[in-house]
Amino acid sequence: MTGVVLDGKKISREIQEELRPRIEALRAAKRAPALAVVLVGENPASQIYVRSKIKACHDLGIRSIELRPPGDISTEELISQIVPLTKDPEVDGILVQMPLPKQIDADKVTSYVDPMRDVDGFGTHNLGSLVLNDPAPRACTPAGIMEMLKRYRIPIAGRHAVVVGRSNIVGKPMALMLLHENATVTICHSRTKNLAEECRRADILVAAIGKAEAITAEHIKPGAVVVDVGMNRLTDPAQVHRLLGHDPARMAAFAKSGSALVGDVEPRAMQELSSAYTPVPGGVGPLTIAMLMANTVLLAEMRLNGRSSGC
Ligand code: NDP
Repeated sequence: MTGVVLDGKKISREIQEELRPRIEALRAAKRAPALAVVLVGENPASQIYVRSKIKACHDLGIRSIELRPPGDISTEELISQIVPLTKDPEVDGILVQMPLPKQIDADKVTSYVDPMRDVDGFGTHNLGSLVLNDPAPRACTPAGIMEMLKRYRIPIAGRHAVVVGRSNIVGKPMALMLLHENATVTICHSRTKNLAEECRRADILVAAIGKAEAITAEHIKPGAVVVDVGMNRLTDPAQVHRLLGHDPARMAAFAKSGSALVGDVEPRAMQELSSAYTPVPGGVGPLTIAMLMANTVLLAEMRLNGRSSGC
């Protein structure tokens, strides 16, 4: 069996195209939606993500406002830069790019982003709305995955979903969203015993771990839908060969650039055992950006309509 590729780029384009008329309507009624992006320090991966997010804003006609405080900023100083954004009527969404440097209390910073501008859905209020299944901006990565499962008509109700990872930004919201669609959900983490056995029970397996090769053939039930959230940049030639040796195009790209992006799931096992899967790159990543744009538009519409429902 070869699994169907769940094409995140295609779905991302669809979602973004559907936003255009809503953005035009906002522009006609008042002004273009606006997203403030806060990038602390020089983390190279974060710089790449932020660049893609700003480019997506630009392509859609969403105004982006960039703040780039230095990497040695304190929690209090960072909060003092975010607070004015939370009072600015020209700002619809505020994104604080994670991870933040170690000296910063990320939860404290997130708590200063007001729910009506919490475009990532990371704050306590919007996480609470998710638990209650009330309308509010949802964490972009799991929301994008749900949108993709829906658009590929993958049934969820009554199926067994296993989510590996329990972070507040991916694993936990993912599990709740699957639960709200009536999956029977198991959440696994680093202390789970018999991970492979738990995973093999999954009709829908979501890996959000952050470790290449964490999920292999022994974790996948034949015919399962596999969603690989992990993003791991590899430079070890032996490991890259082990994971991508069957794919001449990717090996050639590695030879040229010296690094390769892989997920948490062994690519070949995923392709051969699943009924459908998200590739890395080109699977979950593009959806995250599309949902960020969708959340920005949603918050701008709510502001225009003077609505605070759910937020
Ligand atoms: P975190 O590091 O916050 O969480 C990782 C989770 O994996 C933890 O719950 C941890 O368990 C669990 N874990 C770690 N090792 C194991 C193991 N050996 N077996 C089982 N569980 C394990 O990561 P994030 O949730 O922020 O991100 C996960 C991955 O997804 C990363 O690679 C990240 O880059 C990627 N990502 C991709 C996005 C995209 O757009 N494609 C967006 C966001 C993230 P415990 O809680 O016990 O420590």
